[in-house]
Amino acid sequence: MSKERRVLVVGGGVAGLTAATALADRGIQTILVERSTDLGGHAAEWACMATDECARCSACMIEDLRRKALEHPGLEIITNAKLDGVEGGAGAYDVSVSPFGTGAVSCGQGTDRVLSSSRKLNISCVVLTTGFDVYDPGSEPLLGYGRTDGVLTLKDMDAALRRDELESVLPEKDGPVRIGFIQCVGSRDRINGRGYCSQFCCRASIRMLNRLLWLRPDLEAVVFYIDLQIMSKEFKVFYEKAKQKVEFVQGVPAEIFSSDKDSQLRVYSNGQGEDKAKAFAFDRIVLATGIWPAASKDGLRDMFGLGEDQFGFLNGQDEDKGIFAAGACAGPTDIQGSRRTALATANQVASWLGRISSNSSAGGIHVNA
Ligand SMILES: Cc1cc2nc3c(=O)[nH]c(=O)nc-3n(C[C@H](O)[C@H](O)[C@H](O)COP(=O)(O)OP(=O)(O)OC[C@H]3O[C@@H](n4cnc5c(N)ncnc54)[C@H](O)[C@@H]3O)c2cc1C
Ligand code: SF4
Ligand code: SF4
Repeated sequence: MSKERRVLVVGGGVAGLTAATALADRGIQTILVERSTDLGGHAAEWACMATDECARCSACMIEDLRRKALEHPGLEIITNAKLDGVEGGAGAYDVSVSPFGTGAVSCGQGTDRVLSSSRKLNISCVVLTTGFDVYDPGSEPLLGYGRTDGVLTLKDMDAALRRDELESVLPEKDGPVRIGFIQCVGSRDRINGRGYCSQFCCRASIRMLNRLLWLRPDLEAVVFYIDLQIMSKEFKVFYEKAKQKVEFVQGVPAEIFSSDKDSQLRVYSNGQGEDKAKAFAFDRIVLATGIWPAASKDGLRDMFGLGEDQFGFLNGQDEDKGIFAAGACAGPTDIQGSRRTALATANQVASWLGRISSNSSAGGIHVNA
C-alpha cells in the first residue's frame, strides 16, 4: 500500500491527541487538524481539583498529551483549520482544509502549525474526534441561569477555581455560605430527547465539592441528584470524604425561586420516600450541566456520511468508508474514557489499514496514488 498510509485525525482534544500519537507511534503517517489555534480541547480548561491529595480528575494529563503530540516526528499538526470538503473514497480521500480564523495567533503551539492558506490533504482514512458542547441551561427558564444572580454552572465554578478567584463567585457574609448542586441539568431528560447520562458530572461535582470545602471549610453544601454515577472503587473514597460534610438528597428540583428580600435562592425537593417537598435555601446554586452532542452541527457528519445515535452522537465507525469516531463526539464520556476510546480506535484503524493494504496489493483498493 501506499507507499503512504496516511490518517487524518480531526480535532485536537484528549481523544484526538491520544489517537494521533498512538497512530504515529505505530509508524503510520498521521495529520491532526484542529479548528482552534490551541490543542487540548475542553480538558485544557478544567481546574486541578486536588485537596491535600490528588483528586484523579485527569485534567493535568492534557499537558503531557500535548507535549508528546507536538514533539512527535511522525505527526503533522495543523491548527486553525476547518474542513471544506472531501472527495474520493476509502483508502484514497482528498480533503480540503482552509484557515478557520483570520489573523489567528497560536498560544504556545508554534505559529508554523497555524494554517494560513488552503491545502489539500491526501489521506487513507479519517478519525473524527470533534468532541462536544457544554449544555446551555439558558434554555431552561425555570432554572434562571443567566437571569438570576447566584445561579452558576459547573463550568463557571471550574473557571473561578482555575483563576483562583473563588471570591468572584461566592458572597461575603456572616455565617456559612450555603451552596446547592443540581445534577443532571440537560442530561437524563427523556422528555426533551436527552435521555443519556453525561458520565463525568457526578464525579466532577464531588471532586469540586471536596476542593471547595478544602479551600472554604465554612461552606455548607447539598447535592440534589437522580442517581449518582460514581461506582468505581477508587472514586468511592472521594465520595465518602464528601459525605462527611455534604448532604446528598435524591430528587432534583425543577425550579429555582429567587427573592429580592433576602437574596436567597430557594428550591424544593421531595427527597427519597418523602411525601412532602422540603424547602432548601442557598446563597449559590451550581447546575451540573452535561455534554451536548456537537457532532452533527458543523456538517462533518454529512461530509463523511457517518451515522449518529438517537441523541446525535456519532456512530463509532464505518469501515466500508474508512471513517472512525472516538471520544465525546461518539458518546458522553470523561477524560479517561475519551482516551480509552481513542486508543481502541487507533488499534482498529491500524488493522483496517493492514487489511486494505493487502487488498490493494491483490489489486483491490488503490491508495494514495
Ligand atoms: C464542566 C466540565 C468539567 C469537566 N471536568 C472533567 C474532569 O474533571 N475530569 C474528566 O475526566 N472529564 C471532565 N469533563 C469531561 C471532559 O472534558 C471530556 O470527556 C473530554 O474533554 C472529551 O475530550 P474530546 O477530545 O473527546 O473532546 P473535546 O475536548 O471537545 O475536544 C474536541 C476538539 O475538536 C476540535 N474540533 C471540533 N470540531 C472541529 C472541526 N470541525 N474541525 C477541527 N477541529 C474540531 C475542538 O476545537 C476541540 O479541540 C468535564 C466536562 C465539563 C463540561
Ligand atoms: S487533581 Fe487532577 S489536575 Fe490536579 S494533580 Fe490530580 S489529576 Fe492532576
Ligand atoms: S454523571 Fe451524574 S450528573 Fe451527569 S448526567 Fe449522569 S447521573 Fe447526571
